[in-house]
Amino acid sequence: MKTSKESLKIYKKINGLWEENGHKTANTILHEKGLSNFVPSKIDYKLAKLICRQIYKRTLQKKCPFVFENKTGRRHNWRTWSKKNVYNINTDTGWACLTHDFSHWMHHEKYNGSKRPHCAEHAALELRMTKLVIEKLSKLKQEV
Ligand SMILES: [Zn+2]
Repeated sequence: MKTSKESLKIYKKINGLWEENGHKTANTILHEKGLSNFVPSKIDYKLAKLICRQIYKRTLQKKCPFVFENKTGRRHNWRTWSKKNVYNINTDTGWACLTHDFSHWMHHEKYNGSKRPHCAEHAALELRMTKLVIEKLSKLKQEV
């Protein structure tokens, strides 16, 4: 997929944020998923749901309509079309993949599918969610 210079700059920033905070980037996990000995990067399902709901509401100014389900394995985080409004969170592929995949959804809904995936607006949404995830995770660390 062709990615604009502007989005590339934002994606670089996103990758930097993940790595600085001890997380794998979405690209790294994508690569690992292709290996025969794929070792999952586990995330907390409850926290993932909470973050998705929160960022959805902030971005679209309406309640998140999804019913979430917890999946594992090598799949994407994805919307189930056969069952209405089910969003499947894969808790084996790390925070960066969830953030990337979920921001695709918010981008799609916000612009009614009128903008290309991986455009600068999409990257900006992903950056915003990345910051929220990192903020939440660091708060949890402090509480322990
Ligand atoms: Zn993408």
